Amino acid sequence: MAFLEIDNLKKRYGAVEILKGINLDLDQGGFLVLVGPSGCGKSTLLNTIAGLENISEGQIRVAGNPINDLHPSKRDIAMVFQSYALYPNMTVAGNIAFGMEMRGVAKAEREKAIEQVAKTLQISHLLSRKPSQLSGGQRQRVAMGRALVRDPKLFLFDEPLSNLDAKLRVDMRVEIKRLHATTGKTIVYVTHDQIEAMTLATKIAVLKDGELQQVGTPAEIYNTPANLFVADFMGSPAMNLIQAKAAQENGRIVLKILNKAGGGITLPVPGDITGQPLSDGREVIFGIRPEAITDHDGADRNARSIEMVNATVDVVEPAGADTFVVTHLGGKEVTARMRSDAVVQPGQELPFAFNLDKAVVFDPSTGKRL
Ligand code: ADP
Ligand code: MG
Repeated sequence: MAFLEIDNLKKRYGAVEILKGINLDLDQGGFLVLVGPSGCGKSTLLNTIAGLENISEGQIRVAGNPINDLHPSKRDIAMVFQSYALYPNMTVAGNIAFGMEMRGVAKAEREKAIEQVAKTLQISHLLSRKPSQLSGGQRQRVAMGRALVRDPKLFLFDEPLSNLDAKLRVDMRVEIKRLHATTGKTIVYVTHDQIEAMTLATKIAVLKDGELQQVGTPAEIYNTPANLFVADFMGSPAMNLIQAKAAQENGRIVLKILNKAGGGITLPVPGDITGQPLSDGREVIFGIRPEAITDHDGADRNARSIEMVNATVDVVEPAGADTFVVTHLGGKEVTARMRSDAVVQPGQELPFAFNLDKAVVFDPSTGKRL
């Protein structure tokens, strides 16, 4: 039995269904990230777990016990919001201890707990300051301290880093990951940032329009996206998605990618197509991530299937650690990820190495991976 279980959860506002039957579970000590575009229902789902929103149908259980009808204060769940919601007139110590004080925890015990949490979050030197005297990252830490000090069964985070600047967001991401590793807490974390999802999660749930698109480990979501939405949403730069057609050639099925001029390229069908083999003439979407397209020397020597494809370099974007090289295939922009020292010029005709071990194929009508 999983620690957190969500069965067929539906949430309606009037006639509008916001969550359309969510089934999800999480083991104790797991880190579940709910990811999806703005407005897809992430906060609503988190709020139903916290008890801040009622559910219309379904059940939520923690450690086997239904919690739907429990008052939020009885759920033993702590939540950290995007807006830190600190009390401006209280010190950091006061903010962290407030909940304990309300519950009548003795002063000595409170102080010990504050000290412990402040040490974990490295804010011991800030305890007597007011929130206005803190940076955004420090405020975020205090908000986490307030949740942590309660030692709840479950932590919920709603986009806790989205108000921070890019550098601080990366630092805090590492801290949250460390916090999870050292405390072993069970966490449900909401973000619209796919990199946060990939780096933090033990399990990712991708949500779109109130429906789960895929649930899996970060590697599963990244390498074998269930559909075009997940493929496109996860990963930056995004997966290249190119129209192609299956064709019978010399007794085997290949993929043809045609360009506007009528020419084109032929590729073998990527190896791991599940289910039915492709039939002659079938339209598909060929998906390949930028890092699976390199120059010849950058290609993975352990790959089973590398295909060389000649194409003209359109744009070269040095990005520090990598260089992104944009070309065109099948009338679409295609991005390759090369080493920073790859020597590439715009206008140059280049053999690109396609690692087909990493390629996937989708049905254009359903969007599902084949
Ligand atoms: P996310 O957190 O993924 O950005 P939300 O869960 O906040 O999305 O919202 C999901 C959808 O539910 C949105 O379309 C939003 O407008 C709608 N919604 C949220 N709260 C309410 C409410 N109290 N009444 C009606 N609609 C709501
Ligand atoms: Mg939200």
